[in-house]
Formats: sequence, structure tokens, C-alpha cells
Amino acid sequence: MNHTCIFCKIVAGEARAEIIYRDEFVTAFRDTQPVAPTHVLIVPNRHIESLNQAEAADAAALGNLFMAAQKIAAAENIQQGGYRLIVNTGPDGGQTVFHLHMHLVGGRRMKYPIG
Ligand code: AMP
Ligand code: ZN
Repeated sequence: MNHTCIFCKIVAGEARAEIIYRDEFVTAFRDTQPVAPTHVLIVPNRHIESLNQAEAADAAALGNLFMAAQKIAAAENIQQGGYRLIVNTGPDGGQTVFHLHMHLVGGRRMKYPIG
């Protein structure tokens, strides 16, 4: 655990969050500044700064980000309507929290390209 990382603290139960899913590899909680009716962050339980620092041993956790997204989309009733998964990486990607995370957003029609 990285003691200066807000997402590590949420995973460890040391910072408050609305956790809606967790398993051996990942934890999911609602974004505090939602951009859509459903906006959930899914994070690996292990601290990984960004996708650039992921290693082969993290493959199961990375795969579980997607499988958790599928389950949460069903639980949130947005599976049929559709949703978007986003992994912002580095400055050009718009990453602001440096613990790898997948955004699951849905509940409204998304635009593309994203600008
Ligand atoms: P990113 O720009 O991809 O790094 O996204 C970081 C996201 O984390 C933003 O959407 C923030 O609103 C969200 N966020 C930051 N701190 C918290 C927190 N303590 N609990 C829930 N969401 C957070
Ligand atoms: Zn962390």
C-alpha cells in the first residue's frame, strides 16, 4: 500500500468511499464528481501508478477491471443501454490520480470523438 495514495486508502478502508464491488483483485466505488448518472471507478487493489507501470503479474488484476465493469454495468441496469470504459494515462490522457483506475460511465448517451 502507498500511504500517500487516496485510492490505496479507500481499498484499505482508511478513507471513506461508496464501495459497490470488491474481489481479490479489484475494488469499485462511486466517483465523487460524477459526469453521468452512473460513474464508478474500478481500481486494482495493488498500487499501480498508471498503465505504464503495470507488469505481467498484474494481468489478472487488469482483466478483472473489465470483468468487474461487466458485473457492475449489469447491477446498475446500464448493460443493455451501453456504457463507456475509460483509462486515462499520463498528462495527455488527463490522469489526475496516480493509482491506475478504470472509469465506468453510463446512464446517458456518450459523445465520440471525446475532444
Ligand atoms: P482521472 O482524471 O482519470 O485520474 O480520474 C480521477 C477521478 O477520481 C476523478 O473523476 C475524480 O472525481 C475521482 N476522485 C478523486 N478523489 C476521489 C475520491 N476520494 N473518491 C472518489 N472519487 C475520487
Ligand atoms: Zn494507490
